[in-house]
Amino acid sequence: MRGLRITRWGGTLELFEAPAPVPAAGEVQIRVLACGIGLTVVNYIGGQLGDPPLERPVVPGHELVGHISAVGPGVDEQRVGELVTAHFYLFCGRCRNCLGGFEPLCEHPQGQIGTARDGGYAELTTLPERNVVPLPPGIDFVDATVVADAVATPVHIARRAAITPGDRVCVIGAAGGVGIHMVQVAGLHGGDVVGLDVVPEKLDFLENDLGIDVADSSSFDDVALPSRWDGRADVIVDFVGSHQSIGWALRALGANGRLVLVTTFPGRETPFDPRKIVHAQAAVLGSRYASRFEVGLAGALVAAGRVRAVISRRVGLEGVEAIHDELRSGLLLGRGALVLAGTGHDDPR
Ligand SMILES: [Zn+2]
Repeated sequence: MRGLRITRWGGTLELFEAPAPVPAAGEVQIRVLACGIGLTVVNYIGGQLGDPPLERPVVPGHELVGHISAVGPGVDEQRVGELVTAHFYLFCGRCRNCLGGFEPLCEHPQGQIGTARDGGYAELTTLPERNVVPLPPGIDFVDATVVADAVATPVHIARRAAITPGDRVCVIGAAGGVGIHMVQVAGLHGGDVVGLDVVPEKLDFLENDLGIDVADSSSFDDVALPSRWDGRADVIVDFVGSHQSIGWALRALGANGRLVLVTTFPGRETPFDPRKIVHAQAAVLGSRYASRFEVGLAGALVAAGRVRAVISRRVGLEGVEAIHDELRSGLLLGRGALVLAGTGHDDPR
């Protein structure tokens, strides 16, 4: 089987060929059909998840979609052939947080797919059976690459922020791979949604293709929220996480407002005024990935067409680095996809 692997954090990926990986006890082997390409992958290839020096090459890619092609000891053979995606985090499944449906908060975390063990930038991979989440029948396998993270993360955020009908919801970084699905999920919850971004073509797509109100956030001093909002938002989801975006969000939060922080860049300490938080009865929430249950919900939303998968580029193994470059420069609309089954081709929207 062929694939791409990380041999050095921050380096370019290496194309490799290797024998098929054998699933251990409790594991499944997956024939990967496609894998999502987003900024999170680029960040962890760069070493941003803070891993120690690489002990051996590792295959990145956590938004994988494929068929179970073999099972290890202890796994039901009837699962062979099932279409699945994967939960990003390697969790124990036994601690109180895992049992409570908070797998990303596992008390015995073992890292993530794509850094701590091989992911989906290869034709075959193996994973613990508990990591795989079945996908609804009939779902397009390339569309399904957005399920595991780009849609599941917004599903978790919307539930965590308790978005309810009529809430004024502002998404900062709305045209990125997660943001472009966040605006849709917030709309399903009844939110009055405004997307902030900086690239004119991306704002144009949000407005004309997704029907979302937009505002240019090139300068946070000049962000123009809709006049009907009276300058205040009930929920602000920040996918940028800069001093400027967080500072603006704290000022724009209305009474009972909820600011949801999602990014994990180090060194972003930001001052806030507790008096203002109390007077507005506001909340600042951290949101960490999603549960297995929410990955399943995300699959149902995409399969039913209630969330549109926005994948602007599809490539084979040789085209992956070019998409990584587009992600680094902030030019990619939505997600990219590595397509390993059938013919990979560029397909704008
Ligand atoms: Zn656990």
